[in-house]
Amino acid sequence: MNIPKDLQKTIDFFEKLPGIGPKTAKRLGFYLLRMPQQELEEISKHISQLKINLMYCKRCFHLSETELCSICQDTQRDNSVVAVVEDVLDLLSFETGHHYQGVYHVLHGRIDPLNYIGPDDIYIPQFIHRIKKEKNKIQEIILATNPNTEGEATAMYIKKQLTDTFDGELNHVKITRLAYGLPIGGDLEYADYMTLKRSLEGRKDF
Ligand SMILES: [Zn+2]
Repeated sequence: MNIPKDLQKTIDFFEKLPGIGPKTAKRLGFYLLRMPQQELEEISKHISQLKINLMYCKRCFHLSETELCSICQDTQRDNSVVAVVEDVLDLLSFETGHHYQGVYHVLHGRIDPLNYIGPDDIYIPQFIHRIKKEKNKIQEIILATNPNTEGEATAMYIKKQLTDTFDGELNHVKITRLAYGLPIGGDLEYADYMTLKRSLEGRKDF
């Protein structure tokens, strides 16, 4: 079938998205065709502005429209507990269910030597720098990287960096890791929030 150019371009775009195959891409493209023009314009406006007003929070590197993200600005949050997560989707998993009151640090990745991703390619140096500034008010660092090989290696590296950099200065800080109610080899992004809640409550010294 000969598909009009704009529709074909849209379908090609959907096909590039993670988890979407050619059939689904086509179905989504045709679905958009049935939507009201106004709604389409609204969505394309949001997509075209997606990156323009967006930046990383200068403290925790969560996505933000302002220098400090809404979580860092929230005076109700417990700034003495910092959860280190691999990416924004993991942060959002923690935020679902509102059982976590602390703040975050987003690494935007994991140490993955096979794919040439080293500690300096993700936001580990920024985390160490932040801890230098905040070390006196921090009481707990939760290394909430994923329970798979790369996540484990990343947690171990961060712990070693903290020990090496701060010597005895972090003796008052508990370093913990999530308990393994989580499936090993899994991904926090897909954990249901009860599982995440339990693993958070059962977290152990690391
Ligand atoms: Zn922030």
